[in-house]
Amino acid sequence: MSEAAATPQPATKSAPQKAMEKLGLLRDIDLALHLPMRYEDETQLTPIGALREGEAAQVEGVVVDCQVELRSRRQLLVRVKDDTGSLLLRFLHFYPSQQKQMSAASRLRVRGEARVGFFGREMVHPVVKVVEEGTPLAQSLTPVYPSSAQLPQAYLRKAVASGLARADLREILPAGVVPKELPSLKEALNYLHHPPPSASQEALHEHHHPAWHRLKFEELLAQQLSQLQAQRERALLVAPALRARPGGLHEKLLAVLPFQLTAAQQRVSEEIAQDLARPQPTHRLLQGDVGSGKTVVAALAAAVAIDAGWQCALMAPTEILAEQHFRKLIGWLEPLGLKVAWITGSVKGKARQKMLDAAASGEAQLIVGTHAVIEDKVRFAKLGLAIIDEQHRFGVAQRLALRNKLKAMDLEPHLLMMSATPIPRTLAMTYFADLDVSTIDELPPGRSPIVTKVFTESKRHDVVDKIRMAVADGAQVYWVCPLVEESEAVDLRNATETHAELSEQLPGTSVGLLHGRMSPSDKAAVMAEFSSGRMSVLVATTVIEVGVDVPNASLMVIEHAERFGLAQLHQLRGRVGRGAKASVCVLIYSPPLSDTGKSRLKAMAETTDGFEIARRDLDIRGPGEFMGSRQSGAELLRFADLQEDAPLLVAARALAPRLLDQHPEAARRQVARWLGTKAEFLKA
Ligand code: ADP
Ligand code: MG
Repeated sequence: MSEAAATPQPATKSAPQKAMEKLGLLRDIDLALHLPMRYEDETQLTPIGALREGEAAQVEGVVVDCQVELRSRRQLLVRVKDDTGSLLLRFLHFYPSQQKQMSAASRLRVRGEARVGFFGREMVHPVVKVVEEGTPLAQSLTPVYPSSAQLPQAYLRKAVASGLARADLREILPAGVVPKELPSLKEALNYLHHPPPSASQEALHEHHHPAWHRLKFEELLAQQLSQLQAQRERALLVAPALRARPGGLHEKLLAVLPFQLTAAQQRVSEEIAQDLARPQPTHRLLQGDVGSGKTVVAALAAAVAIDAGWQCALMAPTEILAEQHFRKLIGWLEPLGLKVAWITGSVKGKARQKMLDAAASGEAQLIVGTHAVIEDKVRFAKLGLAIIDEQHRFGVAQRLALRNKLKAMDLEPHLLMMSATPIPRTLAMTYFADLDVSTIDELPPGRSPIVTKVFTESKRHDVVDKIRMAVADGAQVYWVCPLVEESEAVDLRNATETHAELSEQLPGTSVGLLHGRMSPSDKAAVMAEFSSGRMSVLVATTVIEVGVDVPNASLMVIEHAERFGLAQLHQLRGRVGRGAKASVCVLIYSPPLSDTGKSRLKAMAETTDGFEIARRDLDIRGPGEFMGSRQSGAELLRFADLQEDAPLLVAARALAPRLLDQHPEAARRQVARWLGTKAEFLKA
């Protein structure tokens, strides 16, 4: 297919060619889709006499003088003149070659910002071109492309222009399906690369022009098509139909739980049970705020699968979280006669082999662990259900690896993902279009709301006083130290120092320390101390971010809160407010705060609702980062903005099934043109 054909490359690549490759500019279509970030207007000449202070303009004049002078510093001064006046060009940095070029020239075309200085009208460091009288003006605005240091703008401009000319931009979409007000793809691209002099720079810049809309529509359509395809492919797969038996494990588990399910938990359990009973693989996201009780819903789903004679795997992103699940699940399930295996990176040697054997023979019905569960060596006898907790914490590549691993079996297992970070609606409609979503929208009863307070660092001693009183009152406290990105060692030192300080400031109080460098058994020992209530204050790095569950803990202090992301802060805060005690979260920041830092802390202080937090997070960060696509390197949407372009998204979403049914070849080419190799990523 012509869109995919690579531009022929010579055997040795020049620096600019390598730089283009780095920018992903490989195919003609890639070049054609590399759009300007702004434009320069070289289509008009302004008479020198009409130049206005501070305005960017292009003028043309004859050179009347050119010399290097030493005023306050060495500088090149060139005076040009037209019929209406004269203009001084001033260069504080210049190459001898420039000096030579300009002194030899008789006529210059000059573009820059005019100002009125001590010596009359002048431009400092304008862009200068030697021309002859009557040299034609540009017919369109001059594009300025996103580039890199090794890639000169002029080189890139040429490459894009020829890529644009060569690229196959014939319409893929059949006539009549594209919203009428949008230009053809070819028109749109030609317009955006070379807009006419009359074009509104604002509409171009703000991406409001119909040409922009056309591109966004194309991109959204490709993305919708790939989602729909994935969904249909999945529907053809066969999974074991798993049904709860009356009087079976599912009912027994419900009977031994120390609490009643909330109405929301019952509802989502029912939704999941219906999925599992179908012979197609479940692909469902269970979302519910921190502390809403997702684990028990997962356990009930596991019970259904196991009761039907299949195995269930449960994966969590960290050892601590996996371990919490493990403890909770064995507490519930082992008394019912089940065998639970435990597989993480730190389980080694004989113990590991035993777990692997138990999974492979089917002796273990439930396998809990970290992503070690999906490593090559792990085999399951009969995997019927895979549950991933905090699915967004697994990278896109890991999620793909998981799917491919699971695919290797005769029957596809059901897949249930869980997340405390709810997906905003527009994202759910795009990246998760082929995902069913269940939402737990209420917290178990008896929780008291968390009050969040924000303090500057100078109030730290007040916070310590507060801890002293809370501990005297029987409360337990988390003190979270931030992750210092550059250095785990600094991170560690901070936590260690804070631990020493707090131990000294709180004599007679048991203060513990938990960080990522500790061995899993040491971590487990500290967690056990804290869970049992023997330890009152736990100084920790973000290792406690997900899943730690100690209901008696009612005070959370987060130091350098400005360094955390909003979702992360919300997750951390969710460690308190789990028991009957009124809980407080204290965010300590060190000024000055950036604007985003300010909006994050404000959001935290104003709401504890995870959905509202997610919405604000999307506002602050944009969808790309929200998805964790940063880590994967896959830039998922280049042109469309999910918030702003919702109407285009709706149109693309409506068109996708029609196109796939009636014009499957066009649909395939659309996905190839726009997503290329990214299509796989979108299935993760
Ligand atoms: P999350 O959704 O954040 O994973 P968990 O599953 O860890 O939440 O549940 C948080 C706490 O609430 C746990 O201690 C759990 O046992 C408890 N819990 C869950 N469901 C209920 C319920 N219906 N009633 C009372 N407590 C519950
Ligand atoms: Mg959880």
